[in-house]
Amino acid sequence: MPKNPNIKPTVFIIFGGTGDLNARKLSPALYNLFLDGWLPDQFAIIGTGRTRLTDEEFRTKLLADLNQFSRNGKARKEDWEKFAPHIFYQVADVKTPAAYEQFSQRIAAFEEDWKVPANVIYYLAVAPEFFPIIATGIAQRHPEDDPTRVRIVIEKPFGHDLESARALNKLLAQHFQECQIYRIDHYLGKETVQNIMAFRFANAIMEPLWNRNSIEHVQISVTEQLGVGERTGYYDNSGALRDMIQNHLLQLLCLVAMDPPVNFTADEVRNRKVDVLRAMRRFKPEDVREAAVRGQYAAGWLEGKKVPGYREEKGANPASNTETFAAVKFFVDNWRWQGVPFYVRTGKRLHRSASIISIQFKDVPHIIFPAETGESWQQNRLIISIQPEMSIRLQVQAKRPGLDMMLNTVDMVFDYQGTYAAEAPEAYETLLLDAMLGDQTLFMRGDQVEEAWDLIMPILNAWQGRPSLSFPNYSADSWGPELAEALIARDGFHWFTLPLDGKKK
Ligand code: NAP
Repeated sequence: MPKNPNIKPTVFIIFGGTGDLNARKLSPALYNLFLDGWLPDQFAIIGTGRTRLTDEEFRTKLLADLNQFSRNGKARKEDWEKFAPHIFYQVADVKTPAAYEQFSQRIAAFEEDWKVPANVIYYLAVAPEFFPIIATGIAQRHPEDDPTRVRIVIEKPFGHDLESARALNKLLAQHFQECQIYRIDHYLGKETVQNIMAFRFANAIMEPLWNRNSIEHVQISVTEQLGVGERTGYYDNSGALRDMIQNHLLQLLCLVAMDPPVNFTADEVRNRKVDVLRAMRRFKPEDVREAAVRGQYAAGWLEGKKVPGYREEKGANPASNTETFAAVKFFVDNWRWQGVPFYVRTGKRLHRSASIISIQFKDVPHIIFPAETGESWQQNRLIISIQPEMSIRLQVQAKRPGLDMMLNTVDMVFDYQGTYAAEAPEAYETLLLDAMLGDQTLFMRGDQVEEAWDLIMPILNAWQGRPSLSFPNYSADSWGPELAEALIARDGFHWFTLPLDGKKK
């Protein structure tokens, strides 16, 4: 008996069944949902690709993937033996109409066997150029179906720019209702990210402070130690602004900046997020130089290993103008946030991998203590650490124990590991379960995606039209180019980082 009786018998069809995303994320997530009792009794997973595999060969591959990537470690024999009979493989080229006919036949066979109509989730874990052809192929096979039973999950990137995102939305809208379309931003499935809404809207103490009267500035920083590696083919057409800021970082910004929704339903939550994106100040071409910084990593040393520069990565264009680092200063022009800067930055081959939101409050209006008491005076900061540490910490000033009056900064910490024994599910588990339940709260709506593209288009256009003369301009193991420090230092602030032990710096 599944944990949630609202989950209907389901067929998952995974386009890109032989690909990296399925190996590392989707299949392990489905397996862990199965282990935790979230899958219905009647379910089937059909992986698909052009590679010729039998069901048994595909199962063997998935078992090896699970053993390597599942958060629960190696699969236990008795669990795997219960899970494996639900897995199937279908050789198919998505460009061939016959492929969709074959899927229909398999779905019909499951329904006949189960004696109930099944929900069908088509997961598009393939290159974006295939999204239109697959969407069209699927739609032709489900013309009269109850729309709530057929769902299509679309991986990032959703569009390459505003125009292509609009075209894809238009095509999807011709075939599906919005309630059938699940645009994934896996950041939204992360536990700490979901907790931003709980923290803000399930506690009364934050709301009176959550505005321009009390908050001085906000920083959102997603840094990675890894370089691009062998993904230059994809990355060279993308870059940090498209790959990270247009989606993940702007979604985080929306969660921090949104007004309280009327209730916790998908459309109410997404309405409030779209409001933020619509209120964000658009850049004129002449603003871009002041508000945005780009960088590309050079060769260097990282944790004792020599690492190549971006232009020397395997398959890279030696004259590439693609940015591997981007930092932008945004404003949200509404009553809540007028005048409060939101600094966002992301990059590869940086000193550390960490995703952190730092909300800095204004200073006290008047310091009553003598100057010498403030050893390490720091304005209050709320730090939401998404990964690797999962925590929320409030930095406050406190008296250090002793006979003299000395102040220093201490942290009030809520951390997941210390508070909960259970391990947090992976983002893809949350999102796949929501897709089964028909809950779109953590998925992006078409208008959200378009607003985000609209916001960053002037930066993209400026950077594309004016190749950087200074690339590469930051070394491995740094925090990015000097200009990114200047972007925030000009306003009197600095980028916040959490040291590895989680204590404040
Ligand atoms: P990948 O490892 O290159 O896999 C591509 C998949 O597409 C393979 O299973 C391949 O199967 C299949 N494919 C290619 N041409 C096909 C065709 N004509 N007909 C049927 N299947 C075809 O790519 P990936 O890394 O898994 O990424 C897939 C998608 O997820 C991309 O949109 C990517 O941006 C997105 N994504 C990936 C990650 C990640 O961590 N990997 C993270 C976020 C988003 P055959 O070779 O067997 O045909």
